Order: sequence, then structure tokens, then C-alpha cells
Amino acid sequence: MHIVVCVKQVPDTKIIKINPKTNTLDRRSAPAILNPYDAHAVQTAVSIKEAAGGEISVLSMGPPQAVDIIKKSVEIGADRGYLITDRAFAGADTLATSYALSKALDRISKEKPIDLIICGKHAIDGDTGQVGPGIARRLDIPPVTNVIEVSDINKDTRRVKIKRKIINGYELIETEMPCLLTVEKEINDIAYSPLPNMIKAARYTPIIWAVSDLEDVDRTQLGLKGSPTIVGKMFTPPKPEGGHMLDGNADDQAKQIIDILLQNKELFSVN
Ligand SMILES: Cc1cc2nc3c(=O)[nH]c(=O)nc-3n(C[C@H](O)[C@H](O)[C@H](O)COP(=O)(O)OP(=O)(O)OC[C@H]3O[C@@H](n4cnc5c(N)ncnc54)[C@H](O)[C@@H]3O)c2cc1C
Repeated sequence: MHIVVCVKQVPDTKIIKINPKTNTLDRRSAPAILNPYDAHAVQTAVSIKEAAGGEISVLSMGPPQAVDIIKKSVEIGADRGYLITDRAFAGADTLATSYALSKALDRISKEKPIDLIICGKHAIDGDTGQVGPGIARRLDIPPVTNVIEVSDINKDTRRVKIKRKIINGYELIETEMPCLLTVEKEINDIAYSPLPNMIKAARYTPIIWAVSDLEDVDRTQLGLKGSPTIVGKMFTPPKPEGGHMLDGNADDQAKQIIDILLQNKELFSVN
């Protein structure tokens, strides 16, 4: 089993301040940390390795300081870490981020084929949850989001059973490997790191790649050039006023919605 976990360095959003003039995050106001969901993703990989054997690599795209979160991942239990860092990656939106990470994953899989890719459910700064599914689409492997349990990894049939959170419940599914999972925080508790891991992490030097180390890269799809997203404005949305709480089961709630719509039909242009 070769598991690759994608990890992102983020500002600690419990501390970060918003610049009231520009309405942007003042990244210098908060320390950079391993995205909390990604810590759970690494811990998931550690549990799978304990049950099924194998190796854990972590991969990050970010500035040179992102080596710190790779070391943190080694402390949790990763065996090795890759950082892709290059000016050409700067200004990437989720489309360009997933492209760059998929190219790095292509190179990693040439060194050692990948069975499972694990991401966090979302990054606490960008918060889109798009990068994991974006990578899966580019690598043409199944994405499974909001995962809360991974069980029955069968190395012979190359299938894995997964429990994922959905609205009002959960879903049990089985899929083929390689696949990509995005994990919720409740999938596990982060264990205290054993001393040998801490020593290994302190001495660990991640593998660092620039764009020129990756193969078949279309540079127009990287960084700002490859990012069609435009941030028009950032603002705190006003608190919604009024509203109506529905009660009862789904049928009761549907009836209540129809009543509300009928009472307010002059607001709609439906005859
Ligand atoms: C126009 C524009 C320019 C931007 N410029 C920059 C910039 O210069 N620098 C910058 O830091 N951000 C920049 N961003 C933000 C950047 O697009 C997102 O932070 C990034 O694409 C990840 O999206 P997200 O935070 O929503 O991650 P999500 O999709 O919420 O993350 C889900 C999971 O994907 C994985 N993941 C996400 N990002 C990474 C990563 N970098 N490395 C490894 N795994 C990852 C993690 O497992 C994470 O838990 C820019 C955004 C826009 C719209």
C-alpha cells in the first residue's frame, strides 16, 4: 500500500485578523499551521498502514516555509514528504492547484505506484473543498468525499469499504483503488506522536521539486495564468432576518412550505 496525503499550510483562522480596509486576510497576524483536516488525513493513513502495511508520503504545494507542515506530518507518522514550490505556482486558484498537485502525483506514482490519495474535507482558509475532487478528476480515479470511516482494505481485490457522511445520516460504499478520499475531522483523534517520530521529524529534510522537476507540464495551467477565478469582493454577509422554522417529518415540512408559498404567492410571478 502506498498512501499519499495532500497537506496544506494555512494561517490559524482562530487567530487571524481581517484587514478592515481591504477585507482580506492579514496572513501575518496568525501563525501558519498544518490544515487541521489534513492532520486527520495523515492520521487516517497511519491507521491504514497499521492495519494493512505500506508507506505514507505527504505532498504539499506552497512556499518554502511549508516544509514545517511536512515535518509535522512526519511527526504524526508519514514516512516521507514532497514539497512542490516555485514562483510559477503562485496565485493559483483551485483549478491550478489541483493541476499542479496532479502533476506531482504523476511523478510520485512513477517512483512508487499510488493506491490511495487522502485529502482533508477542506482547507480552513480557502474553504472550497474543491482541490481533492479536482485531483481525482484529473487522475481519472473515483473521489469519495466526507469520509468518516475506512474499513476492509482488500489488497488482492484492490477494493475498499468506506463510510461517508451525508445530510441526515451516512452512506456505506465500496470502491476500487486507487481512489481519492476527503476526510472529516470525526474520522479519528490525532494520537500523541511517539518520541522516535518527533526525533525523525526534527531531522527530516523533505524532497523539494520545482516545476522543471515535473513532467509534461503545461505552464499556462499553473499559478495565476492558469486561474480563471476572480475574487470580486470579500465581505461578511449580513445576518439573515426573519425566517420560519419548519417542524415535523419531511411530508409535514413539504406541506408547510407549500402553505408559505401560497400565502406569499404575490411575491412570485407564477400564475
Ligand atoms: C485568484 C486566486 C489567487 C490565489 N493565490 C494564492 C496564492 O498565491 N497563494 C495561496 O496560498 N493561495 C492562493 N489562493 C488560494 C488558493 O486558490 C486556494 O487556497 C487553494 O487552491 C486551495 O483551495 P482551498 O483552500 O479552497 O482548498 P480545499 O479545496 O478546501 O482543500 C481541500 C484539501 O485539498 C488539499 N489541498 C488544498 N490545497 C493544497 C495545497 N496547496 N497543497 C497540498 N494539498 C492541498 C488538502 O488536503 C485540503 O484539505 C488564490 C485563490 C484565488 C482565487
